[in-house]
Amino acid sequence: MAYNITLIPGDGIGPEVIESARKVIDATGVNISWESVEAGAIAKKNLGTPLPNYAINSIKKNKIVLKGPITTPIGEGFRSVNVTLRQKLDLFANIRPIKSYEGIKSLHDDVDFIIVRENTEDLYSGIEHMVGEDAAESIKIITRKASERICRFAFELARKEGRKKVTLVHKANIMKLSDGLFLKCGKKIAEEYTDIEFEDIIVDAMSMKLVQNPQDYDLIVAPNLYGDILSDLSAGLVGGLGLAPGANIGEDIAIFESVHGSAPDIAGKNIANPISAILSGAMMLKYIGELEAASKVERALANTIKDERKLTADLGGTFGTEQFTEEIISNII
Ligand code: NAD
Repeated sequence: MAYNITLIPGDGIGPEVIESARKVIDATGVNISWESVEAGAIAKKNLGTPLPNYAINSIKKNKIVLKGPITTPIGEGFRSVNVTLRQKLDLFANIRPIKSYEGIKSLHDDVDFIIVRENTEDLYSGIEHMVGEDAAESIKIITRKASERICRFAFELARKEGRKKVTLVHKANIMKLSDGLFLKCGKKIAEEYTDIEFEDIIVDAMSMKLVQNPQDYDLIVAPNLYGDILSDLSAGLVGGLGLAPGANIGEDIAIFESVHGSAPDIAGKNIANPISAILSGAMMLKYIGELEAASKVERALANTIKDERKLTADLGGTFGTEQFTEEIISNII
């Protein structure tokens, strides 16, 4: 099968790590025709807008995107392209696989779970106002529609990935209505998936348990804020954000991208670590059903990083981005 996939190299280290991921994916033999489009500061300079129509049209046509990080100007300039894409395309689910690898220093071994975070509402709805001069109010929105949608998505993903248990995170003991509704929706959806174990847990207890026994979890589903915090906490358990892949997924469009940013301090020096871009590529391969190619990428990466001399500088090794990429490609079997 041949695939058309939109490629957004982004800026900063984006073009370097995306080129690495593209080469590794192509080396698996999957037949992908990449459609490269500009977004962010480069597009603003060349085309007068950070998110040109031809880029949006390419995404809508191809539906699958591999994306590099895009710098967001602070305090002035254009609005975050990342946030705009999520809102414009209704990418309601954020997925973060959390996995420990031999060779990468981490707090725990044998960690392998997925976090599914609701991406559209909760305290991130942006509805805030001052009440007089000395108080501020921020509105937390939880709807049945978004909660059922994300919980169903989590159970479907669990089935697809052969996961045995879904853990729903909430604080319904205090926020009885909002988090209570999220929990109620989760319990209702769970009844349709009797092949998968379901449990719920309060977010503070979950934070401790994740640090102590992350091996107990398989797939976690959470509203936006708890999902955001637990995603970074969990990335910290297995080697940090530099290794973490991610995806933002909607009804029929999926964007796969590293969790880290554009790292302008090391851009253009051939020292960026491409692991999270490569793992985001492996997630993309799984999503389009190319499971064998995804395994090839993960196995080649796992074999390469066992030898710490072959890692990039951020992980204590001596390899540059290109050398590291060639090493992974030579390990693809
Ligand atoms: P960052 O993740 O870019 O960098 C933080 C630190 O980690 C830096 O020292 C950087 O050198 C290092 N680092 C990051 N990725 C690395 C890699 N692959 N290999 C080696 N070292 C790496 O975070 P930041 O500095 O806060 O953000 C820079 C820009 O990126 C900002 O404009 C921000 O808005 C943007 N950003 C974009 C996305 C996205 O496009 N999805 C995500 C996060 C941040």
